[in-house]
Amino acid sequence: MSERTPIVAGNWKMNKTLEPARELAGAVAEASDEVGDVELIVSPVGPYLRAVGRTMEGSDVGLAAQNVHWAESGAYTGEVSPTMLRDIGCSHAIIGHSERRQYFGETDVSVNRRARAALEHDLTAIICVGESLAERKGGDTELKIKLQVRAALSEVPRSLARNVIIAYEPLWAIGTGESATPEQAQDAHATIRQLMAGLYDQKLADTTRIIYGGSVKPHNIDGLIEQPDFDGALIGGASLQADSFLSIARSVQDYVG
Ligand code: PEP
Repeated sequence: MSERTPIVAGNWKMNKTLEPARELAGAVAEASDEVGDVELIVSPVGPYLRAVGRTMEGSDVGLAAQNVHWAESGAYTGEVSPTMLRDIGCSHAIIGHSERRQYFGETDVSVNRRARAALEHDLTAIICVGESLAERKGGDTELKIKLQVRAALSEVPRSLARNVIIAYEPLWAIGTGESATPEQAQDAHATIRQLMAGLYDQKLADTTRIIYGGSVKPHNIDGLIEQPDFDGALIGGASLQADSFLSIARSVQDYVG
């Protein structure tokens, strides 16, 4: 890793009812000082964002929405605008998660619209990209992630791109227990960083955090941390228990601290 502040982000997906969500958030907030060199982020379901944010008040833990719409307001049933998310204390929004793309018709075009709106409203955009197993087997990993990053950042000016985090999340590794190897993750992250240099410039590329997601657990974080372009992790399953989430965060802290 480098001078880029590493991130350990928990994507809780559609899990945890209110009290367990607050308990988990409380435990994360309480431990956040111990891992002071790591940026912690949690992402509960939309209806609990405010309550979870309040539980963590006074800590530095970031609060991420799992999605964001591009409009300010209007006839978009089921969606939430960036202003509304800012109103309730969100600092980040996850955009283009593979489950959104797979089950809810999210496309590169909608991901781009969401990303631009989030960034214009001062939300840090955690943009998810990644290839399917068939694409990896077909040798199309690089092509796929470049296409997705390029599309997500279309018409995003450099001034806003500074607030982008890219999450490389190969579909075949999400929720499967089969993490990418550190070398596979490094190759993808290096590709993304090089692309960022081409889209913007080397300085921006060097400061962009590129995080990995896909079955990250306490037992497999060590190899990932050592990769030069690894800037942290987006964690699903293992973020649902304070112990495993914080164990990953402590490993990252030990490495950089
Ligand atoms: C995710 O959904 O972003 C994710 C990385 O999930 P898991 O850690 O469970 O593979």
